[in-house]
Amino acid sequence: MKKYDIIIIGGSAAGLTAGITVKRHYPEKSVLLIRKEKQVLIPCGIPYIFGTVGSPDKNLIPDAALDKNNIELLVKEVIAINREEKTVSVSDDTIQYDRLILAAGSEPVIPGVPGSDKEGVYAIHKNVDYLNAMQKKVEDAKNIVIIGGGFIGIEFADEVNRLGAKSVTVVEIADHCLNLAYDEEFCIEMEDKVKARGIQLKTSTKVEAIEGNGRVESIRRSDGSALPADLVILGIGAKPNIELAEKSGLRIGRTGAIIVDRTMKTSDDSIFACGDCAKKWAFFGGRPSTLKLASIATLEARIAGANLFGITRENAGTVGVWSTAVGDLAMGTAGLTENAAKAMGYNIVSATIEGPNRHPGGMPGMKKSRLKMVFEFHSGLLLGGQISGDAAAGEVINIISACVQSRMTAEQIAMFQTGTHPALTASPIAYPLVNAAELAIKQMNA
Ligand SMILES: Cc1cc2nc3c(=O)[nH]c(=O)nc-3n(C[C@H](O)[C@H](O)[C@H](O)COP(=O)(O)OP(=O)(O)OC[C@H]3O[C@@H](n4cnc5c(N)ncnc54)[C@H](O)[C@@H]3O)c2cc1C
Repeated sequence: MKKYDIIIIGGSAAGLTAGITVKRHYPEKSVLLIRKEKQVLIPCGIPYIFGTVGSPDKNLIPDAALDKNNIELLVKEVIAINREEKTVSVSDDTIQYDRLILAAGSEPVIPGVPGSDKEGVYAIHKNVDYLNAMQKKVEDAKNIVIIGGGFIGIEFADEVNRLGAKSVTVVEIADHCLNLAYDEEFCIEMEDKVKARGIQLKTSTKVEAIEGNGRVESIRRSDGSALPADLVILGIGAKPNIELAEKSGLRIGRTGAIIVDRTMKTSDDSIFACGDCAKKWAFFGGRPSTLKLASIATLEARIAGANLFGITRENAGTVGVWSTAVGDLAMGTAGLTENAAKAMGYNIVSATIEGPNRHPGGMPGMKKSRLKMVFEFHSGLLLGGQISGDAAAGEVINIISACVQSRMTAEQIAMFQTGTHPALTASPIAYPLVNAAELAIKQMNA
């Protein structure tokens, strides 16, 4: 029987990063990565297949990193894990491991709404053949309805809308799109942008049924009205892929993910898990989190991969940092929003700075940006931030995430040493991060 020091199940964000990390920390160990798909999609690029990028083939993770890091690849589906024998089985072979990393990811959630199985209803499967077939249907469709107004639903809406000559509608059950990750003013700013680009939004609207004779023809809404639809895209989240883990007797948590500790170890000392299939908990408060992001998956993979033969890294919990963009409007969020912090019981102060992202404002590329920072009232601890503006928002929010992770206070952020330039940033006098902290301090001292 073949034996490897380490077997990794999964070849996407978590699996590949785990493999690279293992080789960085244990270069002498043999590593086999098993994945079921021949070509791996860049998961976050999937919406852009339909417009900007053009096809699934242009949105692939190259296998070069496997060769470069001397990681063997087996393209097969793992059908069983035997924890006593320390083996994994594929259809025609059984292979032994010393350490196993589960990076089996997630599958899209299919709602219990009647008609979800009709022809013309598409969930977002990370599969090249599926997306190729879906792309053809999207191109031919006239009335596209997207169920779910989170960032995936919004990104999909904007991309399919670029194809032109279609009616595109997003249906969202909550009062606002993106409302789990942004406070209302940011949600409204993005909604206005989306509407200005010709996309219809139906918020506070529940889908009761997907109707049609075999194939989808309309969506029935909670107010009884029908929306015509010849293609429906489900963007309502993903559920951890735990079948193998469950069958092998590993512990599964309340959120339906594989239980891991802070070292990413499962209930079996020889098995680690990371990415969408693994349990997550929030950075603030430590409650279970259902957030699933490629950036979280890679962080967890860097922890799991380093810890296989001795603990060196621990997971501090999920800050929840990510960004999205529609046209020239980019938005980012990190940590807690004002709403989320209040709902958890924090006493907070928040400060918002709006202004040009260049100085003077007449410089080319000037765009208005809005930065909101949320602090704990008595300690001044930074709880989170949100930003809207140009593409730089994607990196500014990562700076805010670093401040959150470092448990910085408003006073420390007010003393932040920044670099500024007329063509690149806001003015040093009105630098948003620092000025938001100063405004919050003023409120705390009032
Ligand atoms: C449309 C869309 C847009 C997104 N945009 C973003 C974004 O902008 N930013 C962001 O951070 N995140 C984004 N995400 C989330 C991100 O895609 C996921 O968090 C990420 O893919 C998780 O990576 P993973 O490796 O844990 O799992 P997955 O990507 O689900 O990969 C799982 C891997 O396991 C393999 N596998 C599973 N079971 C078996 C088996 N039995 N045998 C062999 N192989 C198996 C699969 O083949 C696959 O290789 C987006 C997701 C979607 C759907």
